[in-house]
Amino acid sequence: MIYLDNAATTRMYDEVIDIEKDFEKKYFANPSALHSFGMDVENKVKEARDIIASNINCNSNEIYFTKGATESNNIIISSLSNEKNKALTTKLEHSSVIDAFENSSFKKVDLINNDKFGFVNLKDLEEKIDDDTKLVSIIYVQNEIGSIQNIKKISEIIKAKNKDILFHIDATQAFGKISCDINELGVDSMSFSSHKIHGPKGIGGLYISNKFKNRIKPVLYGGRQEVFSSGTLNAPAIYAFSKALELSKEKEDFEYIKNLNLYLRNKITDMFKGYKINSPTENSSPYILNISFEKIKSEVLLHMLESDNIFVSSGSACSKGNNSRILSALNLDKKYMDGALRFSFSHEITKKDLDFLVNKLNEYVDVIRKVY
Ligand code: PMP
Repeated sequence: MIYLDNAATTRMYDEVIDIEKDFEKKYFANPSALHSFGMDVENKVKEARDIIASNINCNSNEIYFTKGATESNNIIISSLSNEKNKALTTKLEHSSVIDAFENSSFKKVDLINNDKFGFVNLKDLEEKIDDDTKLVSIIYVQNEIGSIQNIKKISEIIKAKNKDILFHIDATQAFGKISCDINELGVDSMSFSSHKIHGPKGIGGLYISNKFKNRIKPVLYGGRQEVFSSGTLNAPAIYAFSKALELSKEKEDFEYIKNLNLYLRNKITDMFKGYKINSPTENSSPYILNISFEKIKSEVLLHMLESDNIFVSSGSACSKGNNSRILSALNLDKKYMDGALRFSFSHEITKKDLDFLVNKLNEYVDVIRKVY
């Protein structure tokens, strides 16, 4: 199998599967229980919290476990939402941000302009901040095309205008891959997820600076195990998540992934006509490469590749026949809109896999162009 859909989700590291299975057997008590067995589990959760906090350079009591980045984004957006507040975001956000804003009660949600590679316009950001702006939410690494925003610069602009604005980032595609040091980035809250870094699904987290914690409200009421979210903690998944993050330090080789990305870019450039690389050349995550093929329906191409056990994503993620929101936001020429594929890499991919992929792509692009 050639799995090139790692931005959607990853295969768990074998070691992490073993760790989680072992944990399920040994540490099944409720970490909130008062007995010593429960406290053993609570200590394991603490260990996991410390690992994650140290990775992003925050205090352990600023980390909240959630069921993933979707819940984390929702916690922040719903907390700041009221008729007096304005929020700023981009057209490039994940649906968990866009949908949360669409269902919020902000006085206004303004969208910051971006260029054709998905980078936010810093001047427009500055101009759109006004006295009522209480939240700015920005995606760190864009999940369809890979553009990496200059979060530090964005933070400087926001904070120069008003230190009191909560600056939130969705770091789901950045966490465990590029630096998410919250002090370097200058962010007040940050969402992340385990299943994008070879950890278990259904677990993730939210960093909230202690300075802003009193503005955050729960999304799930109950035992308040994680203050803003209630329910018995999924301790095995939490622990396995932290171990996946630790392991990523040995397993993730940024230079290797960069090389793979460049290799595929070059191969496509050498062998194809009528294509466009939608991912930026600079300030782009090497884990994601989005390419459009002219006169192609990405879904058809995706299914043809599937017959060879090659799994990619239709970068356009055409939902119900609509064009990709993200590609539309890039103002992409109409002829490139339907034929976008997203290739997202992992350490398990080799150049040989990419040779095989490119040969198949070449064959199928030809067939589709002749038939349709
Ligand atoms: N934000 C981004 C940028 C993502 O890529 C994803 C996952 N596709 C999410 C949020 C949602 O993450 P989760 O599956 O952990 O809820």
